[in-house]
Amino acid sequence: ILETRKLNKHFGGLHVTGNVDFALQPGEMHCLIGPNGAGKSTFFRLILGEHRPDSGQILFADQDITRAKPFQRIRKGISVKFQVPGIFKALSTRQNLVIALQHHVPPRDLARDVDRLLEFLNLSGDHAQLAGNLSHGQKQWLEIGMAIALKPRLLLLDEPTAGMTPDETHATGEMLHRLNADGMTVLAVEHDMAFVRQIAHRVTVLHLGKVFAQGSIDDITADPRVARIYLGEADA
Ligand code: ATP
Ligand code: MG
Repeated sequence: ILETRKLNKHFGGLHVTGNVDFALQPGEMHCLIGPNGAGKSTFFRLILGEHRPDSGQILFADQDITRAKPFQRIRKGISVKFQVPGIFKALSTRQNLVIALQHHVPPRDLARDVDRLLEFLNLSGDHAQLAGNLSHGQKQWLEIGMAIALKPRLLLLDEPTAGMTPDETHATGEMLHRLNADGMTVLAVEHDMAFVRQIAHRVTVLHLGKVFAQGSIDDITADPRVARIYLGEADA
């Protein structure tokens, strides 16, 4: 569903994305891992069109989107939840979801769809709570809700479980499995290996902007080369 071909991005002299060839199959749940500064978030921004690549190609559903604007990519079915929060803290949980949904469902279905989404996110009991007063994990769920309101074909998540308790992390994995069962393809940047094991069909390791390794979670955790990059001892 998504493919990058020889994707390159520099910032000044820094080669942040180096000839990345990457492919996601439809219906796949894939985790992108790698040490801090590996280029994971930059890779997301390239897929979203927030950065322009210096060279290379990005294809989505067999169409070349390399030069498409971010809103055009969203329309084609790519959605994202970033590391930094994007919710309206002074509005209630419900109002946040109304905003996310209102342009995409007919008015008579809006209340029902908001209720369904609240339920899916384990947030029904807190629907009237100001988003700014939700717990950290609940805020992350609300953001996932905002990102899936458009029913994207591809959902990108940048560290969705950062700061979550183990229970919240596990519940997040279950949410993603349910979305995946409904056909959503998921690409998540993740540091929590238990979570990676819970959701990922395949894992890609990014290191110094390059695809360093790819395989099942068992392949990756058994690979001594991968262990070494986290200790800062391996060259790309
Ligand atoms: P983390 O795990 O810390 O989130 P990451 O893998 O997401 O790291 P990126 O945020 O993609 O890493 O950054 C990769 C490198 O590119 C870093 O060295 C960063 O400082 C640099 N970088 C990222 N964005 C920019 C920018 N807009 N201008 C200049 N340098 C940038
Ligand atoms: Mg990042």
